[in-house]
Amino acid sequence: MPSAPISKIVILGGGTAGWLAASMMIKVLGKTVEITLVESEEIGTVGVGEATIPPLINLLNFLGLDEAEVMRNVQGTYKLGVEFADWYEKGHTYRHMFGAPGNPLGVLPFYQYWLRQRAQGKGGSLWDYSLNELAAKQNRFTHIKTIPDAPRMDGMNYALHFDAGLLARYLRGVCERSGVTRREGKVSGVNQNSETGFIESLALASGDVVEGEFFLDCSGFRGVLIEDSLHAGYEEWTHWLPCDRAVAVPCVTSGPLRLLTQTRARTAGWQWRIPLQHRIGNGHVFSSGFMEPDEATRILLDNLDGAPLADPRHLRFVTGRRKTSWKKNCVALGLAAGFMEPIESTTIHMVQSALQRLLNLFPDTGFNQPEIDEYNRKTQREYELIRDFIILHYNATKRDDTPFWNYCRTMTVPDSLTTKIEYFRQHGRVIVEEDDLFKEANWIQVLIGQGIMPESFSPLALNVGDDDLDGYFDSLRQIYARTVAGMPTHDEFIARYCKAPVI
Ligand code: FAD
Repeated sequence: MPSAPISKIVILGGGTAGWLAASMMIKVLGKTVEITLVESEEIGTVGVGEATIPPLINLLNFLGLDEAEVMRNVQGTYKLGVEFADWYEKGHTYRHMFGAPGNPLGVLPFYQYWLRQRAQGKGGSLWDYSLNELAAKQNRFTHIKTIPDAPRMDGMNYALHFDAGLLARYLRGVCERSGVTRREGKVSGVNQNSETGFIESLALASGDVVEGEFFLDCSGFRGVLIEDSLHAGYEEWTHWLPCDRAVAVPCVTSGPLRLLTQTRARTAGWQWRIPLQHRIGNGHVFSSGFMEPDEATRILLDNLDGAPLADPRHLRFVTGRRKTSWKKNCVALGLAAGFMEPIESTTIHMVQSALQRLLNLFPDTGFNQPEIDEYNRKTQREYELIRDFIILHYNATKRDDTPFWNYCRTMTVPDSLTTKIEYFRQHGRVIVEEDDLFKEANWIQVLIGQGIMPESFSPLALNVGDDDLDGYFDSLRQIYARTVAGMPTHDEFIARYCKAPVI
């Protein structure tokens, strides 16, 4: 006999995680449940997290939101990939672009033929065949699902940059219009059932009580419900990802709008640059074991494109994951569930994928343990696979110019990552697991970009004659060049399609 359906959901936290959760819950559950979101203006949000990856576009579509309207409201710009400067060695830059470079030939991905060409000293750079790379180099953008001249070839995969505060405000408006109730207030106590330990209500400092059956903890790093009340525990990964601080500051915009999240490795971490319509978001992620906060701030302020628009803000974090992000009747999302290094802009996506997982396993008031276990198992797997991809960026480096890079280069990495790297080095193929957010096209760009060049390639790549293959490579270059030449610039596209008001 099934238990009664859930009728009251309480979300603690009004950052990106909280409002995304509210948006998805109200969209799927509609008026069948009462959804209340509690947030505290006094505590505020983390206020960073402005770069995303392409699945976000699917989420906007799923929520029925108009992309141009979202862009106008969040001062958004488009993103075609991430630039990594000085990571492999000083003076070297590569880009991890969305979408696969080139076009598959028969059953093989393009990069196998590129490895064959390379072995003969031909073919140029892998990224000469990336539509996103070529468009980003010329700052050109448009929406194309396929290439106009060659409709069987993929067009451009893209994501967004946005102002995190404005996104939360925009989503709040959407949610409130759809029936989500927002309660302002600081949670000062959590009432749990004395026998089961299940959360029954949140006590606000004002004296009010907010009751619920199912609680989503989106309270940020602290994990007010999942950790302070339910003691879920935290698995730390600082030994693999030693950065534990960030200093962030916005500055005035300058030059054309770039289509990239730019990152540059520094002596004990790295700096980000995220272009928005009204400002540039900047930050320096660093390891406190190798650098003092004052020095990190100085490096950041010395490397801005324009005048700072606010005082630098310092953040602390511990990379890792909550040991069980669903415990009893509480699921932690966003920073309350764990923290992943932001170099690949994965954390907001992990809120989205956690919500999808949660909706697939949505409980009733019986809260079946096998569903909870399955959710936690899948969540753990997702974190570990992304973690390995991110460690690769730090570990596969030639840099030996600072103690931080010497540590990263020589540290022991998870066996799962060592196996992947060695397999690619020897065979030119990537072992991609089904649950991995990052697919072959992502892994090869970062592996090759970080200097891991295979000794071999698939024997099937020999199935085309030399002249035919040279001709295929030439024709791809021509198709991509023509396609990019026909696009407006990023600034023109934004001006025409989604210009935000001046603020
Ligand atoms: P928060 O924004 O911290 O929100 C917590 C909410 O809980 C707030 O509303 C707060 O008021 C409320 N709250 C807390 N305690 C209480 C209480 N006691 N009572 C009432 N309310 C309470 N992610 C990306 O995807 N891309 C990026 O480029 C990226 N860059 C990042 C860079 C850095 C340096 C950091 C630290 C993170 C980055 N992230 C990035 C992660 C991203 O910022 C977060 O995933 C995202 O902002 C979601 O945060 P959150 O909503 O979980 O937490």
